[in-house]
Amino acid sequence: KRIITTDVMEEDLRTEGNLRPQLLNDYIGQEKAKKNLKVYIEAAKQRGDALDHVLFYGPPGLGKTTLAGIIANELGVHMKVTSGPAIEKPGEMAAILNNLQENDVLFVDEIHRLNRQVEEVLYPAMEDYAIDIMIGKGATARSIRLDLPKFTLVGATTRAGLLTAPLRDRFGVVHHLEFYTEEELQTIIIRSAKVLGVEIDEAGALEMAKRSRGTPRLANRLLKRVRDFAQVKYDGKITKEVADFAMDLLEVDRYGLDQTDRLLLTTIIERFSGGPVGLDTLSAAIGEDAGTIEDVYEPYLIKNGFLLRTPRGRTVTELTYHHLGIK
Ligand code: ADP
Repeated sequence: KRIITTDVMEEDLRTEGNLRPQLLNDYIGQEKAKKNLKVYIEAAKQRGDALDHVLFYGPPGLGKTTLAGIIANELGVHMKVTSGPAIEKPGEMAAILNNLQENDVLFVDEIHRLNRQVEEVLYPAMEDYAIDIMIGKGATARSIRLDLPKFTLVGATTRAGLLTAPLRDRFGVVHHLEFYTEEELQTIIIRSAKVLGVEIDEAGALEMAKRSRGTPRLANRLLKRVRDFAQVKYDGKITKEVADFAMDLLEVDRYGLDQTDRLLLTTIIERFSGGPVGLDTLSAAIGEDAGTIEDVYEPYLIKNGFLLRTPRGRTVTELTYHHLGIK
């Protein structure tokens, strides 16, 4: 199993709760989103009103769920957590909404995966804090409107383009979460090490930051793996030497690329002469789901100049040849 996957792994769940910052001030990076949210939260609190609905989009593991929790915490309200694929029927969504308390936060992960009928329950809920319920059948059927408490919907998705227009338009606040810089990840790693009671020096943390693909979830996961090596093979402290040793063994390279990334890139080079190659062809060639390639692997490879997305397909760059040592 890839250690570098941005999907949530079971080992993450055991510590993710503790490693999640609870307050906006402890949340590192994403300065633009933070600055805006601070104002909106303050204003909502002063008015005693619900915060406007918020949409976060960006690759997995960048802190969307964490921010939703912080919003609820800063507002002093409860957060109910669910996800697009978890809700199958309109009635289930209606029940969740009906059980919220005034000004609560409802967090819907993977909101682009809600089915159409469930999504339609959200339209009046978001706009008028109400749901429409049908009673009776056939000619006598009529719809009655049920008032809901005011609430804030926080939605998360990997790509805003996957949302239908009517849903997207109902969010007052929309933020794109960015990959983190090495310095930000270094700070996150040092903070997480403190929470986990692991000794680490700045150089060790920086080396791990470099290989974390701009993603806090991976940074935290690498930290836990490297900690094991530090304990068993060294004196427990994570230095650059320990970090290098452990991550080389885990086959996470200097840029945070792992075997699957390298397979993807070498496949384009060796089987498609460097590209362009269409997403579906590439997906079949490496046996990886096209959507996963597009949402999870590509953004980081594109951002760092290993891959280009052109109208005719994906191509690698000179940097790719150089990094992989292929002429
Ligand atoms: P997403 O919902 O975008 O997939 P999460 O909010 O679940 O991502 O974040 C994954 C992990 O990364 C969490 O355990 C959290 O501890 C950590 N994390 C994310 N963003 C930050 C941040 N800005 N500062 C500190 N830790 C963070």
